[in-house]
Amino acid sequence: MTSETIDAGELTESAELIVTSLISGLEIKRAGIWIYKDHHRATLKACLIIDRHHQTRDSTTEITRTQYPAYFNALDEEILINANNAATNPLTSEFRHGYLDVLNIHSMLDAPIRINGKTVGVVCCEHIGSTKVWNEDDMLFASLLADQFGRSMAAEEKISQYRKLVETSRALDEQTANLKAIHTSLNKFSLISSTDVNGVITDINDNFLTVSDYSREEVLGNTHRIFNSDYHPNNFFAELWYQITQGAIWQGRICNRKKNGEIFWIDATISPVKNLLGKIEGFIGLYHEITHEIDTQVQLQEAEKLSGSGSFRYNPKTDQWMTTENFKNLFSIGLNQTISWTIFKNIFSKNDFEKFKNSVFGLSEKSHFELIVKTTSSPTLWLQFTGKKQGLWVLGSCQNISQRVKQDYELNRTIAFQKTILNSANFSIIATTPDGTITHFNNMAEKLLGYKPDELIGQLKSDIFHLKEEIIDYSSELEKNYKQKITAGIETLIFKPKLGIVDEREWTYITKYGKTFPVSLSVTAIFNDKEKIIGYLGIGKDLTKQKEIEKYSAQLNNILATAGTIASFSGFLYDVNKAEFVITNEHFREQVLQPNPDKTMIDFADIQSLFAEPHRETIATTLEQAIRFGTEFDIQVQLSTAANDPGNWLRIAGTAQYEDNSITSILGFIQNITEQKQLEEKLSSLALTDELTSIANRRSLMIQLTNEWKRHARYQSSASVLILDIDHFKAVNDRLGHDAGDYALQCFSFTVKEQLRDSDIFGRFGGEEFLILAPNSEESTAVKLAEKIRKSIATSTMRYTPPFQSNAIEISITVSIGVCGLSERISSLSRWLAAADKSLYTAKQTGRNRVVSYQSL
Ligand code: GH3
Ligand code: MG
Ligand code: MG
Repeated sequence: MTSETIDAGELTESAELIVTSLISGLEIKRAGIWIYKDHHRATLKACLIIDRHHQTRDSTTEITRTQYPAYFNALDEEILINANNAATNPLTSEFRHGYLDVLNIHSMLDAPIRINGKTVGVVCCEHIGSTKVWNEDDMLFASLLADQFGRSMAAEEKISQYRKLVETSRALDEQTANLKAIHTSLNKFSLISSTDVNGVITDINDNFLTVSDYSREEVLGNTHRIFNSDYHPNNFFAELWYQITQGAIWQGRICNRKKNGEIFWIDATISPVKNLLGKIEGFIGLYHEITHEIDTQVQLQEAEKLSGSGSFRYNPKTDQWMTTENFKNLFSIGLNQTISWTIFKNIFSKNDFEKFKNSVFGLSEKSHFELIVKTTSSPTLWLQFTGKKQGLWVLGSCQNISQRVKQDYELNRTIAFQKTILNSANFSIIATTPDGTITHFNNMAEKLLGYKPDELIGQLKSDIFHLKEEIIDYSSELEKNYKQKITAGIETLIFKPKLGIVDEREWTYITKYGKTFPVSLSVTAIFNDKEKIIGYLGIGKDLTKQKEIEKYSAQLNNILATAGTIASFSGFLYDVNKAEFVITNEHFREQVLQPNPDKTMIDFADIQSLFAEPHRETIATTLEQAIRFGTEFDIQVQLSTAANDPGNWLRIAGTAQYEDNSITSILGFIQNITEQKQLEEKLSSLALTDELTSIANRRSLMIQLTNEWKRHARYQSSASVLILDIDHFKAVNDRLGHDAGDYALQCFSFTVKEQLRDSDIFGRFGGEEFLILAPNSEESTAVKLAEKIRKSIATSTMRYTPPFQSNAIEISITVSIGVCGLSERISSLSRWLAAADKSLYTAKQTGRNRVVSYQSL
């Protein structure tokens, strides 16, 4: 028999080999291999039956325990079934009708197939035509081949487990890619850095590096001082530092400097990272670049100053005003003075004040108001307010239209516009005469639209950047609202401005070359002193980037949704405000989580109860940290167990999502990793070392003891076994805790190992029981070794420092050892071990911390 075939686990070939060997070796015509289909051993399925008499091969037939109870029970007992007369033998007579009679079988010899001592099937040898008396050799031969097939199956199982592991890890890689997508999105929109307690940077993301122009090597090991722009006063950073070292989160805007000296602004949230005892171990900063926003703000302020307008935000719920500097300038309010309704009451006529107040409080979502009021101050100002409701806020602007009285001023204004922001990088600005003839076309407009100013200035073409359909649609919308006939074209664009209203909308612009892009365009009329319109101004902002960001987040959601079409994987979103989980994959929710089936949301209390007791705290703290500090997580936890059903293992990974600088949700995925966990467990059962002490485990010891026993049986070689059991070890655990106990076990094995020769085999036999196999050692030599070990343990002290404590505890232990060398008294391996155990028992009985040899008993 070629044992390579068997050990390589090529099961089909092995079966063929074994069945044909049985047929030729036993001189029979029919033999087969049957394997249990299930763990309950309820059904046997033919793996291969070769019948040379009837010229058949079979690998499909199945028989069940219900059909043949006596036969199945006999196999349970792991006995060899030797039935010379199969029809009358009580173990096989069940087969008489329909099997033995049909096939003319007279004698059966069935040997169980075992893997690791467990019966997994049976080898059947059947004699056709006449009775055969199976002799000892036949039985041995059948058992031997059954064993061989067991070996082959074990090898096959091992190989397929490895294969499965490889597949699982590949699937895992794919799914990790989804998490990476989330990372990427975070990295794409945020700058992230972390530091140690002294503020020395330990980690920084690519985005930060890109923005700051530094390489990672240049930054790591430095503090954030390398980005210092000298913009902020010294106490700015002192206060920041004070706040975070006190354990608080700092939020604010920081002006930094790039490597090349340019400045960049970031909106920062810096949080201390605390360990379990609340001690600060470092800081994590999450930043958003806002240079562009700041630039825009500065420009807006400039533009406002020039146009005599100001912007405001008002929250009716909290009665809170936020305004631009220029808004305050309009009313001659000091920059440090806070705005309140009283101010307006004092400078508006009573009537105007009521109108203004009613307009602000009467706004409903998405509606807007326009109002012209007059101040009672001197000189009198005419102010035009516009406002709209957005969420909790009323957003609006106020324009000083009294300044329009001087046409000169207006002209100046246009020129000033041209000088200051006309060529700014962010807005396309197109100015026209009252009929729509283009008079100004700035750099940005040129860049975005592809036309040269020469091609357009002086021409009646201010609608050529627009999509016709959009203009037509808007025309009919205006016609409906204003009940007027409007010609779709330039007239549409200036209809509202003509009424003195700023028309701000999203449009699609078309470039000279036919490319389209989204734009936010605001068109205003320019008035002269006689309230006559002298032209229009269109200011456009390219929305491409903003749209891209919107699209990207939609894509991210898609990734999570598609990844969730299989039940082993789901995206989730934890809504921080609502404290609710949304599980994106309903298959997953139903099959794996099995919460209340009516709920797609799972609230916090539900989540906790889903998990096995020891994991509930992990879940709670992980989420809490993610919510508080935005810490990313990737944990493995087990669901709570049903009656007989061990709970599924889940991998849960997530990242915090931000909106306006605060964490609004946690986005991530849940993966069912139960199979992977089981596989890991199975693999560890194939392992030969003990996890805690890294020495041989019981399995490995038994293999080596068996080999040693065989060697002894053949060559009468000498060898001794020492069984070591730590004295009163339970007390160590009880007094100092299980962790200290584990530590003591590690120290113990280390100390013992130091006393041994290379050829000695040392392993953990169970809990706090160890075994040494000393080959070629007589008992008297082994006793000396045991005595040496006992002394070294009794005289050494272990020093254990519990987690989060600074003082070490001293642990002293003693050990009792039973020794037994091989002799004529020892007739089997199990007797050998029993003898050593008996010596150990005597050592324990006679006071512990001692060595007892078997000979002395
Ligand atoms: P004796 O002197 O009679 O051997 O007393 P003992 O307390 O050592 O004996 P007993 O068998 O009653 O208790 C053994 C203890 O060893 C019980 C168990 O808590 C502890 N133990 C077993 N395995 C481990 C382990 O892996 N780690 C730790 N820390 N303790 C273990
Ligand atoms: Mg003990
Ligand atoms: Mg014990």
